[in-house]
Amino acid sequence: MRDEATEPTYEAECASGEITCCESSGAHRHTEPVEVWMRQHAADTGHRRYLRLFSDYAVVLEPTEESTRSDMPERSDRGSV
Ligand SMILES: [Zn+2]
Repeated sequence: MRDEATEPTYEAECASGEITCCESSGAHRHTEPVEVWMRQHAADTGHRRYLRLFSDYAVVLEPTEESTRSDMPERSDRGSV
C-alpha cells in the first residue's frame, strides 16, 4: 500500500566520468525538472550517463485487531463463572 501523504520522487545522479561524478539533480515530484537538469549537466560537463532513481514510500499496516485476537489463546474461564 502506498502512503497517500507521501508522493513519489524522481531523481537523477550523474554516473559519468572516470571517477564517477555523482552530481545529483536532487529529488523532484516530476520527471521534467530531472530531465532539464540532465540536459543542463550534459551541456555543462559533457556527461551523458545518468542513474535515474524513482522513490516512493510503502506503509505496511499493523495486523487488524481481529487477526491479532484470533492468534491469542481462547479464554475458556470467562463464561464458566
Ligand atoms: Zn557529471
